Amino acid sequence: MAFTNSPLVSYTKISPNKTVNRNHAIDTITIHCVVGQCTVERLGEIFAPTSRQASSNYGVGLDGRIGMYVEEKDRSWCSSNAANDHRAITIEVASDTKEPYALTSAAYAALLDLVTDICKRNGIKKLVWSTSKNERVNHLNGCNMTVHRDYANKSCPGTYLYERHGAIAAEVNKRLGNGTADAGSQGSGSQATEMYRVRKTWADAASQKGAFKVLANAKQCADKNPGYSVFDSAGKAVYPATSSAAVPFLAKVVISDLNIRTGPGTNYAETGKFTGKGIFTIVEERSGQGSVKGWGRLKSGAGWISLDYCEKT
Ligand SMILES: [Zn+2]
Repeated sequence: MAFTNSPLVSYTKISPNKTVNRNHAIDTITIHCVVGQCTVERLGEIFAPTSRQASSNYGVGLDGRIGMYVEEKDRSWCSSNAANDHRAITIEVASDTKEPYALTSAAYAALLDLVTDICKRNGIKKLVWSTSKNERVNHLNGCNMTVHRDYANKSCPGTYLYERHGAIAAEVNKRLGNGTADAGSQGSGSQATEMYRVRKTWADAASQKGAFKVLANAKQCADKNPGYSVFDSAGKAVYPATSSAAVPFLAKVVISDLNIRTGPGTNYAETGKFTGKGIFTIVEERSGQGSVKGWGRLKSGAGWISLDYCEKT
């Protein structure tokens, strides 16, 4: 059969970690969480080295942009199961680094668009989810959504996405013209009107620095105003990641040339100094641009380091 790729893709970086030509028609969707609020470019970097031995067909960044790393005609190395990845389109979605591994609303909205597009182009008439692992892995009763935890000892896709698989199926089926009366009851109708507000606390409306439709812009505003957080329309703090219980912790730096930056992200300047290998105390943790695991502030006051190159001790 003739394979196509999604027209929704805005960034392509083909990974060497794949099996050329899948051996099964596309009839399954497998959604994963990245465990990092990263961009599509960062995901491309992660899947680029052959040493990583991992990839996905698509990725959704925290800002809702969509990247492609393995064409649909090829099998990605994503779900710890060859048979699944030969028949599935695999999608890695940027997520928080901790339970419930929540998505940004932009990423969730883009995921719905992408899954709908995949179903339309590949003749998947209806998405069927089941909370029974047996039904999922054996594709019983039409079940055509699987999850990574079915095949490996992982929490992927995380609680946030796992609990929304039924809602994802309902919303996509509605868009495919298969909606039932109750479809969309958990749907994403509010996604389009999401607004991110930057305040000291949700209750302190007078402290508001701004309101943004794009989460990335709200995060930038919060970064410029120490002590401020980003809240979604429901008043839930979505940035910076609240991790006061988790710090301080010790991080073992495993490379010799890890840059120290002035802030939590590759968008902040390098200080020109490196940590060197060793064990360092992290007193604050943030998700930020350019890192999957997030960023840690050094107790020494020297600046911030990417936790991608650290092991928690
Ligand atoms: Zn996964």
